[in-house]
This record gives sequence, C-alpha cells and structure tokens, in this order.
Amino acid sequence: MNNWVSAFKEQAGRITKDLRHRRLIQTALGKYEVQRDRRKSAFQNWESARQIAAETKWEAIQQLDKHLVEFTAKLEARGTKVHWATTATQARDIILEIIRSKKARCIIKSKAMTAEEIHLNDAMEKEGYEVVESDLGEFIVQLRKEPPYHIVFPAMHLTRGEISDLFEKELGSAPTDSPEELTMIARRALRKKYIAADIGITGANFAIAETGMISITENEGNARLTAALPKTMISLLGIEKVLPRLADLALFLPMLATAGAGQPITCYNSFYGGPRQPGEVDGPEEYHVVLLDNRRTELLADAEQRDALHCIRCGACLNVCPIYRNVGGHTYGTTYSGPIGSVITPHLRGLQDWKHLSQASSLCGACTETCPVKINLHHHLLQNRRNAVQEKSGFWERLAFRGFAASMNSPFVFRMIGTLGRLFQPLHRLVKGSRIDPLHPWTQTRELPRIAPQTFREYWRNRS
Ligand code: SF4
Repeated sequence: MNNWVSAFKEQAGRITKDLRHRRLIQTALGKYEVQRDRRKSAFQNWESARQIAAETKWEAIQQLDKHLVEFTAKLEARGTKVHWATTATQARDIILEIIRSKKARCIIKSKAMTAEEIHLNDAMEKEGYEVVESDLGEFIVQLRKEPPYHIVFPAMHLTRGEISDLFEKELGSAPTDSPEELTMIARRALRKKYIAADIGITGANFAIAETGMISITENEGNARLTAALPKTMISLLGIEKVLPRLADLALFLPMLATAGAGQPITCYNSFYGGPRQPGEVDGPEEYHVVLLDNRRTELLADAEQRDALHCIRCGACLNVCPIYRNVGGHTYGTTYSGPIGSVITPHLRGLQDWKHLSQASSLCGACTETCPVKINLHHHLLQNRRNAVQEKSGFWERLAFRGFAASMNSPFVFRMIGTLGRLFQPLHRLVKGSRIDPLHPWTQTRELPRIAPQTFREYWRNRS
C-alpha cells in the first residue's frame, strides 16, 4: 500500500467518525442544495442549458490548438507576455523569474487552483517572498497553513468561532461571533497588503479565444484589487479554460454561479486582456499570462476521457458526493478533491499512485447528474478502475479473481463454498470485529450478508 493510500484510509476513517465535522458539512451543503435548486428554476430549461454548455466545451476542447493560438495572438497584440509551461516546475520557474526580475518583495494572490496544483506559494515563500491570499476563505486557510478544503469554498470546514480564534491569534483582533466583523478584520489586514504588493497573481475562470481575454468571476472584489493595484499582474491558467466566443459567457457565467454556489450570478465579473493601454487610468503596467499544461495534453490525447477537460471547476459534484460529504476535502490529499478530483488526479499525478480515489466512490451517479457540463463522472471512475487493473493488477487481486472464476465455473466448488459458508457463518460471530477475524477489513464497517439457510436448488427440489 503506497503512502497516499494509507494516508487516505487513515484520514477517511478518522474524519467519518467526527460527528461535529459531518454535521457542519452536511448543514452547509444542505443549504447549498436548496439555493441551487431555487436558482436553477431561473433558467428557462436547465437541462437544455447543460446540453449547450457541454457542446460548447466539446467544441472548445476538440479545437483547443486553434483556440489557444487565437487567444494568445490577441493577448500579445495588446502587449501581454504569454508563457507556455509544460510542467509544474516550468510554470513555477517562469513566475519566479518574473518576480525576481521585478525585485518584488510582497505578492498578493487571488484564488487560483492552478497555483495550488503547482505548489506556487511554497516555491515563492522558499525564496523569501511574502505571499498573501486575498480571497477570504483562502486567507483563512493560509493563516492555518492548510490547503483549501473545497474548490469553491476553501474554508467551509470552519465555524465562526474557529475563525475568530484564528484571527485573534494571528492578527491580534478581538473575539467576535459576527460574520460582518470577521470580514472587516480580514479586510483591514488585506487592504494594507494590496497597497504594499509589487505583483498580483490571479487564476482565470475562462479564457476567451475570440477576444483574447481572461474572465474572472468572484464575490469579494479581491481579484479586481489584485489585478488593479500592483504594477505587474500574472495570470496562471490551465490550457483547458478556453471558450470559443465572448457570447458563450452569457450561459457560462450564470451557470457557474448557479451550479457552484446557488447564486444567480457572481458579484464581480471582470475581463483582462493586457496591461494598461494608453489613456487608461488604472491596471497593471506589465501583464503576463502563463498557460499551464501539466499533463493536460495527455488527458486530451485520451479520446475516452478527454471530456474531463470540460470541467469549469464549479464544485457542484463535490457538493452532492456522499463520499466527499463524509470524508471531507482534505482527506483526498490532492488539489482537486471530490469526484472530478478522483477522475483527473490519476491523469495529473499517476494512475497507480492515485487509483484508490476512483475506488473510493459509491458510483451513485449524483455527480454526473449535477455536473453543468455533463461530464460522465461516475463512468470515468469506472474507466480509471479498469485502466488501473489493465496496467497493473496486484497479486492478491489476481488470485482472488482467478479463485472466483474457478468457483463460478465449477458447480461442485460453488456448492462447497455455500455449504462451508453456512457452516462457518455462526462461528464467525465469535471473532467478528476482532483482529483475528479474517474478514476484518470488510466487517469493521459493514455487516456480512447472511447466507440463505437453503440453496435455490434445495428450494426448487423441495418446493412441492
Ligand atoms: S466535474 Fe462538473 S460538477 Fe464537478 S467541478 Fe467540474 S464542472 Fe463542476
């Protein structure tokens, strides 16, 4: 068992027994579902909207090369420096080089999962730069030295009291139970950082090929300040973020807000297409866009699972996933958690090391049903399982399936198993739950099905 698997099992076992944590998450996500369903009804036809969104993303990804060329050409025409990063290391190096060349000291960031993916904060902090997350949830988890808990709600696992204690300890503020006051404490701390920052780093929600602009959608206005105040702006985005046309946003912006947070639309929707142009009063003097591959083209080459690149990172599949709701976001040990994380992480970080995430699923299909761009998530989890076995199956697994096949092919062995099972099942009660129970991995969390007192053949023989 590799380290990732044992860490996942240990953490999942611990967190599912934490009733306080489960109550917190279930309450938050229960409220989300009510809000999302209410907002969905504002669409004339939610299912048609999903279909159009899926087809638009399909078009975008099928012609990704063409769209990326168009996107970068338009950005460069406005004076933006576009960088291509094949790996996470390259992306970090590009960004660090820009920071060094500007002799920066303080960097302000708005939420970007791609930055988490390449461990950008660690790299910058190791070089001695001060890095401050400006999204409230990200700011909170940064103070706790934790990764985000959720793609959209990074600090959803914390109560107001815990946040108040954290601010008291880290920022020296007075204790409070008021969300408004907590927000103001963070705001006062962050405003100073915006002024001091030399560089602003953002992610992107969409990259519009037609206009050569990135679109950022947010609720706090922190990304706008991150982009507007520092002299240099860097946007780091995965190559799959492309949408062909500006008009596509008329669907994608409300859809992302509805599916992700149960909102009609997010409060702030901004476009960035280049540094400050002559005659403009604000905006960065220098603008860099870093396009991150990091094994996305390998996923693109996989015709069967390519549609995982359609993901718009709304987080809806996490919100409805019974596994996520019980084990929580940190247990996955990955940047992208929940069903979409379980689908793409094996592609981004290696199938054999991360196949366990595809096994940790009930395959109920709730994720597929809710995904606004209709990614067949639970089917992809099954495909990951199949691919993992085809690539490399374990000795015990092979042995178990050979034994199973042999018993199914031999009526005599099949009958023997039934007879022995009926014989030993009462005795099993004596060891059940203990370490000497040979079925311990199964029975520690589940009941063994009871073997019927008579076989179907016996029933058939005796039926009259
Ligand atoms: S897979 Fe679908 S539901 Fe999950 S985050 Fe991506 S777009 Fe949203």
